[in-house]
Order: sequence, then C-alpha cells, then structure tokens
Amino acid sequence: MSASNRFAVIGDPIAHSLSPVMQRAALEAAGIDGTYEAHRVEQARLGAHVARLREEGYRGFNVTIPHKENVFAFLDDASPVARQIGAVNTVSTIGGRLVGHNTDVPGFRNALATLDMTVEGRLAVVLGTGGAARAVVHALTTEGADIVVVSRSVEKGARMARSIGRGVRSIGYDGPSLRAALAEARLLVNTTPLGMEHQPHADPLPADVELRSHTAVVDLVYGRMTPLMSRARSKGCTVMDGIEMLVEQGAESFRLWTGRDPDLATMRRACWRHLEEARQCSVS
Ligand code: NAP
Repeated sequence: MSASNRFAVIGDPIAHSLSPVMQRAALEAAGIDGTYEAHRVEQARLGAHVARLREEGYRGFNVTIPHKENVFAFLDDASPVARQIGAVNTVSTIGGRLVGHNTDVPGFRNALATLDMTVEGRLAVVLGTGGAARAVVHALTTEGADIVVVSRSVEKGARMARSIGRGVRSIGYDGPSLRAALAEARLLVNTTPLGMEHQPHADPLPADVELRSHTAVVDLVYGRMTPLMSRARSKGCTVMDGIEMLVEQGAESFRLWTGRDPDLATMRRACWRHLEEARQCSVS
C-alpha cells in the first residue's frame, strides 16, 4: 500500500467514532488498498500530531470534537465554507499542503434531500448553537429556508443569528415564541447532544410544546431512538436520525480525498452493523 492511501480521524475521545468502520468499508468497496485509523489526540498535542500526519504523508484525515475549531492554526488553507462556519471536519493533503473543509454542510444538505421535501421559503427550527448547528444553518440558508435558532442563552442565539444575517432569528426555550415557531415549522433539527448515550432520556423540547405532523424532524444524534424522535413519530411526523448526515458527510470527505463516489449503502450498513454489535456487547 502506498503511504498516500493512509487516512485517519483525530479527536478526544475517539473510541466512539463511527468514521473508521464507515471509511474502511468505503475503501474496501472501492477496491482502494488503504488504511483508516482512529487517533486520540489531546488538545496540547494537536499541532505536533497534525505535523506528524503531514510528514508521514497521510492523504487526508477527519477532525472531530474538540479540535474542529483549533485545527485551523495548523493548516495551510481552508475552504470559504469552513472559514465561514469556523469549523473544519475534513483535511485533504494537496502537494504537501493541508487544506481544511467542512463536509457537515453538504452532508446535511444531501441527507435532507433524501426526505424529498422543500424548505425554500418555509420555516426551519434549529435547536442548539454549536458547530453542528452552524453547519446545518449554513446549509439551510443556501436552500432558502427561514430559520429560527433556539438557544438556552439569549446572547448566544442572538450572536449566531447576527453572524449569519438575513433570514435567521433566535428565540429561547421558554415562552410562546417556541410554540408559535413549531406550529409553523416545516423542519425541526436537533443539534443538541440531548438523547445521546450518556443522556438517553433527555428531550430538548419542553413537554408542553406540541409537534405537528407537517413538521419533519431530523435528530443529529445517531444510532438510537431518542425521546424527541419517538415523540415526533407518535405525532405522525417524518423522522430522520443522524446516521444519514453522518454517512453523507463521510461520503463527501471520501470524494475530496479520492475523487471517487463511495458506495453509500455499504457505508450505511457498516455503521448499523457496528452499532448493533456495540449494543449486543453492552447487554451481554
Ligand atoms: P457542541 O458544539 O457542543 O454544540 C451543542 C449545542 O447544543 C450547544 O451549543 C448548546 O447550545 C446545545 N446544548 C448543549 N448542551 C445542552 C443541554 N444540556 N441542553 C440543551 N442544549 C444543550 O456540539 P456539536 O459539535 O454542535 O454537536 C452536537 C450534536 O450533533 C452531538 O450530538 C453530535 O454527536 C451531533 N453531530 C452529528 C453529526 C452527524 O453527522 N450526525 C455531525 C455533527 C454533530 P446553546 O448553549 O445555545 O443552548
């Protein structure tokens, strides 16, 4: 195998990442003799580790929590979208230069396209103001949606709305604004971590807020039926979990690195198989 077919994901923690199983399956299906490793990298060693990946000729790597913002300092360039969002989740090596990208934006857009719905001129409600929320809001603005960002902090929400500009406003979880937004919303996206493994019973929406069947619900949490998803199902909403975006953002990274289209069905299957095995291990 040539050194240029080495790939990795860097983060801390990293053991939970589905990127290795998904990208290894994609490499194998494409007949590419390559490796994809998981590297746990502490904050203090980020610069040194990125320098090592450069020296060793890695063709590309993914970046996950907590390095998506800080990695900029160690790259040679970044795409306009990654700069605008302020987060890099994919790095490609071009002639020894490290270039940062954000594939969460096309990842979310492509995942949304599988729902076969239009958000142009319609209201989309986004819960949370972190890195994933910025990518989702960016994708939704390019689709022409009107956006309401919901934050626990009036100040954070307002800052995010201001940074994006027209078509985005922010509200809190209390009061009538959220109820009114959800009555109208065509789309609701949860980008908060509530419902994840360490807080599986947590629902980001207050109990007295009603969901309507015309609202499609996308929860970026993946691999489990979250309280938000089951509540949405019971109201007759179309529901999508985070696997689709995960696979789509990974597919976009794969395209950037190899110039080829990966087999999405294989990537999806690899994720679900891994999650199922992990579940069986945890109950046995
Ligand atoms: P992050 O930067 O930590 O942002 C999460 C946001 O959620 C925060 O900014 C916060 O917004 C809100 N939040 C945090 N804790 C909360 C709580 N206890 N109650 C209510 N709101 C809370 O994280 P991220 O990188 O954006 O990732 C967020 C989630 O998306 C994670 O679950 C991650 O696994 C998932 N994700 C999935 C994909 C995918 O492909 N499926 C891709 C990226 C991320 P406020 O402070 O403004 O309320």
